Amino acid sequence: MPLSKTSRQKLNTCHSDLIRLIEAVAETEKCAVICGFRGRYEQEKAYHTGKSKAKWGQSKHNFKPSHAVDVVPEPLNWEDIPAFEKLGEKIMAKADELGIKIKWGKNFKGLADYPHFELTEDK
Ligand SMILES: [Zn+2]
Repeated sequence: MPLSKTSRQKLNTCHSDLIRLIEAVAETEKCAVICGFRGRYEQEKAYHTGKSKAKWGQSKHNFKPSHAVDVVPEPLNWEDIPAFEKLGEKIMAKADELGIKIKWGKNFKGLADYPHFELTEDK
């Protein structure tokens, strides 16, 4: 299933490993990319509205290219946690298969961030 134009633009702000990974996942899963690189203004806004616990410069979304990507299942329903779980498991399995080391925001302490995946190694 091809990614939408908006998803594609967001994915293109990410590290090549994340692009490779999400492209591979999108072949079989219906999903959308809702965030790649996040600039200073957007990061501070996310921090102040409680959407992110990170201030500017502390989030992997602030790396250029971004070392974090937020991916949601489609059709999107924020209440449907099992759909997020299913997509997240596919993403983790695919990352393993491709040899890309990532962390899933689901496992973050304090704030389970289901759509969030980030690279674990600095490149
Ligand atoms: Zn994120």
